[in-house]
Amino acid sequence: MTISIICTNKDAQPWVAALKALDPALDVQVWPNETRKADIEFALCWNHPEGVLQDFPNLRCICSMGAGIDHLLNDAFFPKDIPVARIVDPLLAQSMFEYICAAVMHTFRDFDLYKTQQQKNIWQQQAPKQIAKTTVGIMGLGKLGQYTANKLSDIGFHVVGWSRSQKNIEGVSCYAGNEQLGEFLAQASTLVCLLPLTDETRGILNTENFNQLPKGACLVNVARGEHLIEEDLLTALDSGQLRSACLDVFKEEPLPQTHPFWLNPRILLTPHCSSITDPASVAPQVLENYQRMKSDQPLMNQVNPFRGY
Ligand code: NAP
Repeated sequence: MTISIICTNKDAQPWVAALKALDPALDVQVWPNETRKADIEFALCWNHPEGVLQDFPNLRCICSMGAGIDHLLNDAFFPKDIPVARIVDPLLAQSMFEYICAAVMHTFRDFDLYKTQQQKNIWQQQAPKQIAKTTVGIMGLGKLGQYTANKLSDIGFHVVGWSRSQKNIEGVSCYAGNEQLGEFLAQASTLVCLLPLTDETRGILNTENFNQLPKGACLVNVARGEHLIEEDLLTALDSGQLRSACLDVFKEEPLPQTHPFWLNPRILLTPHCSSITDPASVAPQVLENYQRMKSDQPLMNQVNPFRGY
């Protein structure tokens, strides 16, 4: 039995090392250099080339190397009948919270405005704000969203959250479904997107929804670039409906050199680094799933490819 690591824009070697450190006898091969494709039963994937999974006739489990599975489902030939697992990791959640906290604090304490003032030698205090009267809205109350919502609430922000099914989270006002989206958006002076990318959520960061936010709201997108309609963001920033955007993910990555986001003073952008999976931290759960697959037990962190997350 063999594991194959199939990734196109990640270094496979730290993953091989982390798995081998736990089980030196493990047979781990790396795409495209597998020698015995028929032996491979477990594929660990990130942005695999379309159709490549069809080369493995005995595949029994596919595991994402991150929290999302949209990169798997982009493949028109993806075998949806094979069980799929993803990564759920406390370090991933903590790292995501740290990034979002920094992004929210950046505008809550007006660092963006002070940076602009500094460039013009302007000494001027902005009006003080109270954390308890500042509302952060989190779209997506899953593993990362719930953790972040709890932590932001602990710091003192008023936190509202939105998900598909109704949640009950202490300290967080929860809204669910399309019927309650407007009520949720109307409160969020900073909107954080932590949704999975599905047919329902693609393009959800658009003019119609931006217009339901309080005027001058800030946007933080750490989910996927395809959640955002890029032209709608530029329009909302130009009109002042949005004050600023902090973006970690983009439709095309790396962001093309000529893209207008690079030079927009109201956009802070980072290279998809808000929460990066640490192979050493997640190798135990990958190995655990490999063992479970071998003994026909239910997988940990299994997802439903038909639902899309
Ligand atoms: P998760 O545990 O699967 O949670 C997803 C949440 O989104 C759930 O609360 C779900 O609602 C909600 N949701 C899904 N479809 C919805 C819809 N149509 N309307 C309203 N709510 C909807 O996911 P996670 O582990 O928190 O990760 C979230 C996403 O973060 C990932 O999919 C990935 O794209 C992104 N991510 C980015 C980075 C980065 O470095 N930038 C790193 C890790 C993850 P229910 O609870 O009702 O099902």
